[in-house]
Amino acid sequence: MRHYKTIDFSRYASIKIGPTLEVWVIEDEHYPQDAYIIGGANNVLLSPTPPPLMVLSKAYDYIKIENGRLVIGAATPGGKVVSFCKRHNIANFEFMAHLPGTVGGMIKMNAGLKEWEIFNYLYALKLDGDYYLKEHIPHGYRYCHLEGVVFEAHFNIEEGFQTQRLEMFRSMRSNQPKALSAGSCFKNPTGDHAGRLIEAVGLKGWRHGAVGFSAVHANFLVNYGGGTFDDAMYVISLAQQRVAETFGIVLDKEIIVLHENCQSKRDI
Ligand SMILES: Cc1cc2nc3c(=O)[nH]c(=O)nc-3n(C[C@H](O)[C@H](O)[C@H](O)COP(=O)(O)OP(=O)(O)OC[C@H]3O[C@@H](n4cnc5c(N)ncnc54)[C@H](O)[C@@H]3O)c2cc1C
Repeated sequence: MRHYKTIDFSRYASIKIGPTLEVWVIEDEHYPQDAYIIGGANNVLLSPTPPPLMVLSKAYDYIKIENGRLVIGAATPGGKVVSFCKRHNIANFEFMAHLPGTVGGMIKMNAGLKEWEIFNYLYALKLDGDYYLKEHIPHGYRYCHLEGVVFEAHFNIEEGFQTQRLEMFRSMRSNQPKALSAGSCFKNPTGDHAGRLIEAVGLKGWRHGAVGFSAVHANFLVNYGGGTFDDAMYVISLAQQRVAETFGIVLDKEIIVLHENCQSKRDI
């Protein structure tokens, strides 16, 4: 059965920019090959004409313990993982408490805070119809190389949920803006911080239209309300240009830009 749903990305995406689209809902591991998978849209910036999109259905929002491992559907939000781990006294997933997104999106981004990254505890994942062990998936700071859709992830279990870690992760957020954003705009270049470089070229707190770099944390591209894709792209390009001219450093986007020229996930 073909199944689409209408999503208004100006409400769904965390940065609240994007059109209203018909999105394919994956119910049974079959999906159109030209479509691009999204999770909670906490790390994406959509142009008015993005490629065809798809999301996992609720059937992939589950969490259980099986054969001594934590087995999580890729549509499961991080907050649900933390609650489950608290209830079952499982350690190491506390960092997800303040990390918006689904497990599928977190794996693709190797999301985390400081040294706490989702790949640290991954054992294997189900990508399309096949299972892959973590050691066969190239990954690093805010990336992993996989082509296809993650349906399920298996994690090693260690006992001992630590409530005090929740406070530690909460306080790590204290220097981040509350305004609408998609998290960090750029990856930190080796040995430096994107926020420091943006501030050094005079763009901290600077805005163009309703989009700019936060005065609270310069690496957060924020939408002050009614911001557009063009505003956001202008601000991103300006920062890249100024940082390249001043420091000779190419700022690599962490935020994923979905624009009309990317026809499939392979183009991004
Ligand atoms: C306020 C705020 C703070 C943030 N802080 C942090 C932080 O501290 N650390 C951090 O790492 N990130 C942070 N982020 C970014 C975001 O939380 C992560 O990137 C998260 O992993 C996004 O998950 P998502 O489900 O929203 O993915 P999306 O934004 O929907 O997609 C992100 C990528 O994952 C891919 N993807 C999604 N689902 C699947 C799937 N099932 N299979 C294959 N690929 C998939 C998409 O194709 C896309 O490439 C922050 C974001 C916000 C808004």
